[in-house]
Amino acid sequence: MAREDASTLENLDTLRKKIFSDLESATDSAALESFRIKYLGKKGALRALLKGLKNIPAERRKEYGARANQLRAETEQAFSSRTRQKKARGDQQSSPFDPSLPGYPFPHGSIHPLTKIRNEIRDIFISMGFDVAYGPDVESDFYNFAALNFPPHHPARDMQDTFLVSPEVVLRTHTSPVQIRIMEEQQPPIRCIMPGRVYRHEEISSRSYCIFHQVEGLYVDRDVSFADLKGTLLWFARRFFDEKTHIKIRPSFFPFTEPSVEIDIECFLCKGAGCSVCKQSGWLEILGAGMVHPNVLASGGIDSEHYTGFAFGMGIERIALLKYTIDDIRLFFENDIRFLRQF
Ligand SMILES: [Zn+2]
Repeated sequence: MAREDASTLENLDTLRKKIFSDLESATDSAALESFRIKYLGKKGALRALLKGLKNIPAERRKEYGARANQLRAETEQAFSSRTRQKKARGDQQSSPFDPSLPGYPFPHGSIHPLTKIRNEIRDIFISMGFDVAYGPDVESDFYNFAALNFPPHHPARDMQDTFLVSPEVVLRTHTSPVQIRIMEEQQPPIRCIMPGRVYRHEEISSRSYCIFHQVEGLYVDRDVSFADLKGTLLWFARRFFDEKTHIKIRPSFFPFTEPSVEIDIECFLCKGAGCSVCKQSGWLEILGAGMVHPNVLASGGIDSEHYTGFAFGMGIERIALLKYTIDDIRLFFENDIRFLRQF
């Protein structure tokens, strides 16, 4: 250890500065201990200073001795005050409760993208006076097929690959069975949407999954016409996608509606100009719809001589994939937090 040469009063002042600067920079226990050994220990600089008194010329010895003693007293006092401070800080840090620390973040969940889309669709139809109804996921063959104008062995049953619980009980392949349940309970006017989960025995890939979600809609009253269907769905499309969006109606086939149509929405990404999402066509297939088949009204106990109605259905996954430009439907079901946090 280097000894300070403080054989003169000037050197004493230099040593004093050095001592206080060293003490200032000693911030942890190890540094404080080094400081103590270096200056206050048995072989420390201050002890050496007093031992060196005999070498000081006699006429300066008294003053020098007094200054050296004063320096030692000051150093001891400063050192012990510094040690107390350090200990107080240490005690504070080791306390389990420190009210000055910022709180732990409490992560909020986010709304699942499918729930978000479903809620948006639901709110638009509620604003048009529709009710919301739900039905069971496990259905009888009657509600899922027969009542919806799929007679046994009808080739249309091949359109949907069905999970059978037993020969007469299925996991519903669409939300349309809820239409029958509503009509059984209620006489027209009926204005209702029916969101829910549906099941099909499909190979799982980025484009298809064995579970998905639909929103079904039904309006039955006197004089409900195809124009009402068109107006309602155009209004919906403009509220949901873009207020200037156009729709295109193409003939199609469903057993439970006649006539049946598919409704394309002008691509909301390219505004109809053509892009990779709409495969350059400018249109997106979003909805199936049609006028409720008289046989279906009859299955629900509605007099098809006096009442007409329209029905429509759309896949929530399909809309969410398009709206959020997601390229893999499986992401909706894997619940990967990195995916879900983005919504
Ligand atoms: Zn497009």
